[in-house]
Amino acid sequence: MPDIKTNSSPSELTKPLGNLFIVAAPSGAGKSTLIKAILAKSHSSNPMQLSVSHTTRKPRPGETNGVEYHFVDHADFEAMIEQDAFYEYAEVFGNYYGTSKAAISDKLHQGVDIFLDIDWQGARQVKALNPDVIGIYIVPPSVEALQARLSGRGQDSDEVIAGRMAQARSEISHYNEFDYVVVNDDLEQALKEFEAIVLANRCDLENQENRHQALFEQLLAGK
Ligand code: 5GP
Repeated sequence: MPDIKTNSSPSELTKPLGNLFIVAAPSGAGKSTLIKAILAKSHSSNPMQLSVSHTTRKPRPGETNGVEYHFVDHADFEAMIEQDAFYEYAEVFGNYYGTSKAAISDKLHQGVDIFLDIDWQGARQVKALNPDVIGIYIVPPSVEALQARLSGRGQDSDEVIAGRMAQARSEISHYNEFDYVVVNDDLEQALKEFEAIVLANRCDLENQENRHQALFEQLLAGK
């Protein structure tokens, strides 16, 4: 039987039990659909939650305060910046978006995998603060598919759609700052790949050692 190597004493096991994932994509790549689908698979042995960001953008039809975002005005957002309440924040399409510190750390310590649905600017800030963060980048299968998805959404004006197509290329140029890439052509396959990434990271050595310390002690002692 191979030796189980461990460099960590119990007091050093300070890494949170949950994983922090950044999920980024150009607008229209199907990121929200994928995140929603994976969250539906959350269960007690693999709890998953989305961090709800703060934004100054106005709610779209069907969006609810506290669900998709915490919708706040500029003054409130700037007050939170002053109070150092954000893990990261960025200006995207003329609005502020930010992840509050409160939204993540407690949940990670409870063993919940947390998804941050943020852009590459936020991803850079989070990576700098937390090197353990796992970046997943979602891309559409073609420019045509991206265009069709942006036009098909029916929630934004032509001007906004044109602006987002222009943004897409510069956004996509950051794909290689992430650890994993999922090409969202077939939703079912993309979801499988997304879930495989989450589960593989849940089962990595450090996580399993932290989670199953007592089990390893028993197995190695043979009783
Ligand atoms: P939307 O307005 O379509 O919901 O989001 C626009 C962009 O803002 C998306 O790329 C989304 O990932 C990004 N975004 C949403 N929340 C945050 C956040 O908390 N921080 C950062 N940096 N970007 C965010």
